[in-house]
Amino acid sequence: MASISGKNQINWEEVASHLAPIEVIQNPALVKKKSRDYFWYSPILNDELKGSFGDLVVIPKSIRELKLCLHVAYQINSPVVIRGGGTGNYGQAVPVDGGLIIETTSINQILEIGNGYVRVQAGALIADINAALKPTGQEMAMFPSTQKIATVGGFVAGGSSGIGSLATGALREPGNLIEIKVLSLSNEPREHVFTSDDVLNIHHAWGINGVITEITLRCVKTHNWLACLATFDSYEAAYRAGLAVSRGSKINPKLVSIVDARIVEYFPRLCGHVRSKHDLLVSYICPQDLMIFNALIKESGGHLDLALSDQDRDAAKIPHVFEFSYNHTTLQVLKVDRRATYQQVGVDNVDNFDAITRLRADLGDEVWTHHEFIRFGGKVSAIDLPIIWFSSPERLQKINEIFTKHGFTVYDAHINQIEAGGLHNTNFKHLAWKKRLDPKGLLNSAKSAAWNSVKDLSPEEIEAKEIG
Ligand code: FAD
Repeated sequence: MASISGKNQINWEEVASHLAPIEVIQNPALVKKKSRDYFWYSPILNDELKGSFGDLVVIPKSIRELKLCLHVAYQINSPVVIRGGGTGNYGQAVPVDGGLIIETTSINQILEIGNGYVRVQAGALIADINAALKPTGQEMAMFPSTQKIATVGGFVAGGSSGIGSLATGALREPGNLIEIKVLSLSNEPREHVFTSDDVLNIHHAWGINGVITEITLRCVKTHNWLACLATFDSYEAAYRAGLAVSRGSKINPKLVSIVDARIVEYFPRLCGHVRSKHDLLVSYICPQDLMIFNALIKESGGHLDLALSDQDRDAAKIPHVFEFSYNHTTLQVLKVDRRATYQQVGVDNVDNFDAITRLRADLGDEVWTHHEFIRFGGKVSAIDLPIIWFSSPERLQKINEIFTKHGFTVYDAHINQIEAGGLHNTNFKHLAWKKRLDPKGLLNSAKSAAWNSVKDLSPEEIEAKEIG
């Protein structure tokens, strides 16, 4: 069987038979499908990655089978990409160097549920974990809006925060990730367990430095959350209300998102349910907080259009309102018009309303802001995931500069290497652990700009660069 990626001389037919009876996918059309994620959100990444494919997909059903896959990859020097649900936005799961794609979705057991924690295998779907937690009165401390497709391993390796992060912070905050078990990519794959702060050696490393097999995560008490939608005459009023609700001392929302009125026009399923041509606030609150919430909305000049329990929302045929938050917002626009893209922007001073107003005036009709309130280090902060009407890479760069000029930090979502988009600088601890657990550099190495410059150093020498 010829190499689908065209990047190696490995006899993939032989590899597949060697891996039997482990399930493999060899059909080139299906292998190409499993080589994609949601990188197409970015026209720049789409051009860059649409022609990158793996050579063979393997779907182990147990840790024993997974170990055999890793052993074989090590023996034949094959690049490896670990794939969960393939919902990453930066092409994290695209096998740029070709080789083996190991899909984890069949290693998916929920192993233990305790008071305040859940221990799961990495391929478990996030929606399945939340469903299993519900009868215990708990839910994940945060989850991405892609919970029906995304795996917990993919979230921990590729994601950062989600619905719930307003209450509990980002994944990296102390106590949210309790333990991560990984396997090395070596002749005899061995397990390494990371606990307390050391989980950050693996978290958000895009699968470059170990294969996550098991995760223990924080869970929190669940409520009969009310899905709330409120509308405002101006973006600034909606933002001010969002901040007041997020900071309200007597109210504990798990989500507060602000969406520009022009984006809301792309939400047909809300048509008739919220006032049209108004800026939108999306939230989940506890039923007992409804009066306080409504008062805060009114004080900011807003109007509470909907406050629905899950059952009422289902009956009204309205999707989960988190599908109008985080990167689902971008998806709703892209469903209608593929010329849209997005960016990731940090709001360093959440109280600087003037900066947001000036920024929006400067951006005009080309960029429509959308803010998510989130807690960092216990303090309410915000990120902006704006819709951008893309015309060229050069213009996108100019738009980035407008954000920067107004004091906002761009975490570029159009770069396929972790140092630029995801981490904003080199994480030498990640790379030191890559050297320890993936000495041949086979795991998703193309996603690290810095790996080639440190791969010949010892783990200790690499780690020393973090301090230096
Ligand atoms: P994949 O895309 O399959 O993989 C992501 C990365 O993790 C890849 O680098 C892969 O190699 C690595 N990986 C996967 N499994 C393992 C493993 N077992 N061991 C080691 N490495 C592994 N992200 C957020 O953080 N918050 C959000 O709210 C959010 N909303 C989104 C909304 C939409 C509509 C979309 C398209 C994306 C969103 N994302 C969000 C990004 C993405 O959904 C999340 O990061 C998601 O959790 C990824 O899970 P996955 O199983 O699809 O991972």
